[in-house]
Amino acid sequence: EDGRALLLSRIKDVPDYPKPGVMFKDITPLLADPKAFAALTETLVELAGQYGATKIVGLEARGFILAAPVAVQAGIGFVPVRKAGKLPGATLAQSYELEYGTAEIEVHAEDLAAGDRVMVIDDVLATGGTAEASLSLIRRAGAEVAGVAVLMELSFLPGRAKLAASLAGAPLDAL
Ligand code: 5GP
Repeated sequence: EDGRALLLSRIKDVPDYPKPGVMFKDITPLLADPKAFAALTETLVELAGQYGATKIVGLEARGFILAAPVAVQAGIGFVPVRKAGKLPGATLAQSYELEYGTAEIEVHAEDLAAGDRVMVIDDVLATGGTAEASLSLIRRAGAEVAGVAVLMELSFLPGRAKLAASLAGAPLDAL
């Protein structure tokens, strides 16, 4: 519980960013505090163990920052899920709906395979659109979803409910 308080104390609420009416959760103070960043990494490594994860997927861009040290410490591979057009190799692509319009994410097809148990890491679960699309990519690559871990869940949005079907029983942990 102390760990949770430390993490919370290092997240800054920024009003009206990136647009009026939005309260943005800024994680840069947490990243700048080595004790808090290490505590977060340690908690995520424990979860990776509980999930039995064999691969860590980080979601662009803040998910990369959180996921990479977890992969190194857990001794398993890191796989980036990127916004469309950034990966040079053969990819699987998945589009999803935004408040206005659509977005697309991609993963290198050869980075995930049957037998992989994949843990997805991101900083914030909001509407759940990004996470849901990433779960589709993982399954389409033939891999298994071991669990999803986020630093924060915006519980006033229906992200968890949106994800329920694609989680298919896999855990969703919000720290
Ligand atoms: P969703 O697809 O669940 O609506 O949005 C989640 C994505 O948007 C995550 O990749 C997350 O990084 C970003 N995001 C949405 N709201 C916030 C926020 O308040 N703070 C941060 N740091 N990221 C956010």
